Amino acid sequence: MKVKCPDCEGEIKVPDDAIAGEIVSCPDCGQEYEVYFEDGKLKLKQAETVKEDWGE
Ligand SMILES: [Zn+2]
Repeated sequence: MKVKCPDCEGEIKVPDDAIAGEIVSCPDCGQEYEVYFEDGKLKLKQAETVKEDWGE
C-alpha cells in the first residue's frame, strides 16, 4: 500500500504485511518512518535513527 509522507506528502510504499516497528523511508525527502497502528489503521511516525551529521 502507499502512505502519504507526513513531511513532504510524497508517496511511501509500505508492504501490505508491514508490522509495527517496521522502518520505511520516503523516496522524496529521505525521511525514515516507523510503522505503527492506531485504531487498526497503519500510521507513520518519525523514526529515531541516527543519520549523518548536520555538519556542525
Ligand atoms: Zn517525504
